[in-house]
Amino acid sequence: MTTRPSVVVVGGGIAGLAAAWELTGAQEGPSESTPRIELIEESEHLGGALTTLEFCDRVIDLGPDGFLARRPEALALAKELGLEDQLEAICAAGASIWLKGALEELPAGLVLGVPTDAKSLKAMKGLSWSSRWSAWRDQHAPRKLKVTDDVSIGLILRTKLGGELTYQLIEPMVGGIQAGRVDELSAAAVFPALYDAAQRGGSLMKALRGAGHTGPVAERVLGPLFMTLRGGVGSLADELTRQLSERGVVVRTGTAVSALRPTPSGTYPWEVDTSDTTTGASAVILATPAPVAGRLTSALDEVLTQLQSITSAGAAVITFVFDAADTTLPPTGTGVLVPLATEWHDDVMMITAITFLDRKWAHLRRDGQILLRAHVGRIDDRRCEVLSDDALAQRVRDELTTILGRVGAPIDVCVQRWPQGLPQYYVGHLDLVARARHALSPFSIRLAGSAYDGVGVPASVGSGRRAAREVLTLLANSDQS
Ligand SMILES: Cc1cc2nc3c(=O)[nH]c(=O)nc-3n(C[C@H](O)[C@H](O)[C@H](O)COP(=O)(O)OP(=O)(O)OC[C@H]3O[C@@H](n4cnc5c(N)ncnc54)[C@H](O)[C@@H]3O)c2cc1C
Repeated sequence: MTTRPSVVVVGGGIAGLAAAWELTGAQEGPSESTPRIELIEESEHLGGALTTLEFCDRVIDLGPDGFLARRPEALALAKELGLEDQLEAICAAGASIWLKGALEELPAGLVLGVPTDAKSLKAMKGLSWSSRWSAWRDQHAPRKLKVTDDVSIGLILRTKLGGELTYQLIEPMVGGIQAGRVDELSAAAVFPALYDAAQRGGSLMKALRGAGHTGPVAERVLGPLFMTLRGGVGSLADELTRQLSERGVVVRTGTAVSALRPTPSGTYPWEVDTSDTTTGASAVILATPAPVAGRLTSALDEVLTQLQSITSAGAAVITFVFDAADTTLPPTGTGVLVPLATEWHDDVMMITAITFLDRKWAHLRRDGQILLRAHVGRIDDRRCEVLSDDALAQRVRDELTTILGRVGAPIDVCVQRWPQGLPQYYVGHLDLVARARHALSPFSIRLAGSAYDGVGVPASVGSGRRAAREVLTLLANSDQS
């Protein structure tokens, strides 16, 4: 009698859940060759950063509130799960930036914050003449920069466009999404279009023109840029969990994997330990933060210890409902960006961005109310960690008053902390990940998740499913041998 293959998925964030979905045959469902699958998650909650909350007569997301719809992975998964009728397109565009004490509308044509046309900066009052000149110069007499290996996003931007545009306009967008610093983040891994443009030489702005594909024409041709689910992005994880259980996947929560050992003489090549169990596995998918994967695999190859250097920036989101009569918002746009080191009284602002949730998503609108959330925390700003929830909400509300002008007493407020928020892709990230995967290639262990292949729901779904397909191929090949 042959032993049924067994796959253990470690980590029940969206990457781990998507891996389990693929292992169980995805849309087609399980077949005779489907392995036994056990998914082990440390916390009591499945979905990782995908988390919803009932809040003021709505279901809101406390992690991602939408996803890029021009990448296929999240959209495809939602459809496979039967959530197509829950999909909702973003219904607002544009944003503002808090520059030198005023809200300035961001110009059209930015690609991740990088202007693609110097003229579009004309209307922005908070920028100096020298930064406008830097933009003009990039189009007509671009500065030289030789880029061969990976470099920081900041190095490319500072050289080509100068410090002011880099830190006042572009970092709030790129660095904000990653909760990191452009001077440390890898151009090749975080902003490949910028990296390619820099390698080609010439004008950065001209090279990036068209890379964003935003605006009404792109919308008509390519479809909306962002989407959500009416039950919250978190409902993607909830539905996955439900269907995985129906398919017989063993889902364990509140259980951390503590060790992973080869068992050359056992029925299965691997043993996966928790505090009270040992599971035999033909293959293992590690869909945890990278330092956990590094710890679990470090005995297999020295290179894998380096995974522990992929650290994450802690973050917090503070969601408020305000009475619309007491609170002013900029006339249009989905939110506000705040540049790093923006002075505020005798300190600097903690808020990095504000999202007007009920402008983005129609299902969250309620008459007479404003639903918004503020983001705080970066790799080098951990101030939120030492404040209580009440103190953090008060501080953020005071900063909101400065930025928005008038903010009433909150009808309700919710503070959500993400201590392991966003992985940082430092210069050399792609090499590090490639070396780690190469070191694991002789073993039936695969890495998945936002620590490796891109931050965001679509990238994490894609990463989990890719790891699962590789494992299924390994199992099929070992069956034949
Ligand atoms: C505040 C915030 C806002 C965001 N907004 C957006 C957005 O609007 N759009 C978007 O696309 N993306 C957004 N993202 C990013 C997106 O949420 C993530 O990229 C994605 O959810 C990562 O999924 P993951 O499965 O790779 O990792 P995670 O969700 O981190 O899952 C990893 C899991 O591993 C578990 N684990 C750790 N150690 C062990 C162990 N020893 N044993 C077992 N389990 C373990 C953890 O508990 C966790 O559940 C946001 C992220 C945050 C934090």
